[in-house]
Amino acid sequence: MKLMNDIKNNLWTTAVAGVVLVVFMVIFETLISSESQKADAKLRLEAANYTAILKSKVDRELNAVLFISSGLSSYFTIYHRNLEHHTVQNVLADLYSKTKNVRNLAVAVGYKITYMYPVVSNEKAIGVDYRTLPNQWPQVKAAIDRNEGVLVGPLNLIQGGRGLIYRYPVFINHQYWGLLSTVINSDAFFKSAFKELVNEEFAFAIRNKDTHEVFYGDPMIFAYPEAFLSTSDTTDVEWEWAVVQKAEKASKLILITRLMGFVIALLMATLVYFFLRERKMLTELAMHDSLTGLANRRMLDIRLEQGLAHAKRFNRNLAILFMDIDHFKQLNDTHGHDVGDALLKLVAARLKTLIRDIDTLCRISGDEFVIVLGELNDIHDANSVASKIVHAFQGGVSILGERVSISLSIGVAAYGGTSDETSQSLMKKADIALYQAKAAGRNQYKVFTEVGQKGLFDTIET
Ligand code: GH3
Ligand code: MG
Repeated sequence: MKLMNDIKNNLWTTAVAGVVLVVFMVIFETLISSESQKADAKLRLEAANYTAILKSKVDRELNAVLFISSGLSSYFTIYHRNLEHHTVQNVLADLYSKTKNVRNLAVAVGYKITYMYPVVSNEKAIGVDYRTLPNQWPQVKAAIDRNEGVLVGPLNLIQGGRGLIYRYPVFINHQYWGLLSTVINSDAFFKSAFKELVNEEFAFAIRNKDTHEVFYGDPMIFAYPEAFLSTSDTTDVEWEWAVVQKAEKASKLILITRLMGFVIALLMATLVYFFLRERKMLTELAMHDSLTGLANRRMLDIRLEQGLAHAKRFNRNLAILFMDIDHFKQLNDTHGHDVGDALLKLVAARLKTLIRDIDTLCRISGDEFVIVLGELNDIHDANSVASKIVHAFQGGVSILGERVSISLSIGVAAYGGTSDETSQSLMKKADIALYQAKAAGRNQYKVFTEVGQKGLFDTIET
């Protein structure tokens, strides 16, 4: 509540502090966004590098099993005329023993699966004609038509379970002879491919590019907007990869930086606010009298200067009343300094009630007060105010339980319309008039009258 009032009273200071806050926040925000763009670019580069490593791991693992197909192809090209079932099975068994992650090797002569190793748990596939498998036939046909090896999957196998299948058509004398299939256990394959890969920072997933079926990793990774996506580089594998930073370190850092920026901006704005408020208070203190709270001599100089300039420019009336308490020293001696102080405050408060808001009341020293009366319709109104003041203290006042007799003497001086009038000359005139009032017996006002210009003010209170 106190702060709210404080802010209300210091709107200009608050506005400056607000501007400081906004400027600092804009500066921080600009820095953060440029840094976050840099961090994003770096992260994308790291994700791309990581994806390249993942793909190379898969390629290495694939190469380890795909050499089988070219070896087998050569064997059938040479021996296709006199194939013995058990010899073929022995060849398959030998090749199988040299691989890992291969579930089975199958050879279709024409379109029918004729040889299979191992037979156990793959019996169901033996004798099957690819043309009767609507799920597999289009891909088989595509491999044959293209006359090149094609890796498909992971898919559900006829013999049960899931696997990757590398299909390799064998052509003898430009004639299609048969199809070699290497069925790879996909779970074991990926496990083996990525086993040495320890990266705390990134998580990844792989999916079929066409069906979007995620077969490795957390499917949610594809849903992250910041995921780095790429497809497999080889034409025979239709996979899509997504790599994402595991812990969102960067965004957390940005959040912390943004928060710190806001705190610093707020701190700067608060410092500016209190600095300006303090300055304003010091300026006000320098312009005010600490005992009565009235404007002091410094403020009087400013106000009188402004008032005189205004009166000259717009041809207005202006008068000053120079007041001094009569025998104040004596009052102090009789009643004590505290009563004297209280009396000064009382005089200040009472004088305030006798003038308008636009007039300036100052305590310029000890028991001396000055009133600047601006915007007077009639210059003689100054005399009325002086008269009112003289009468206001007749009858004495009650101060700290004591009855004190008090009176004031006043010197009045008015701006006479001459351009060479200054605030100093006007104060001097008021001072002379005050001296006259004192000399004439006090408790009255005197008006400064120019020699030879008598009649400007002619009323003298006695
Ligand atoms: P005069 O009628 O000629 O003005 O007589 P005076 O006694 O009032 O004389 P003068 O105006 O020269 O003296 C002012 C006195 O006011 C002097 C000092 O003792 C007293 N005074 C000045 N400042 C203060 C103040 O802050 N508090 C109190 N209590 N007295 C002050
Ligand atoms: Mg005095």
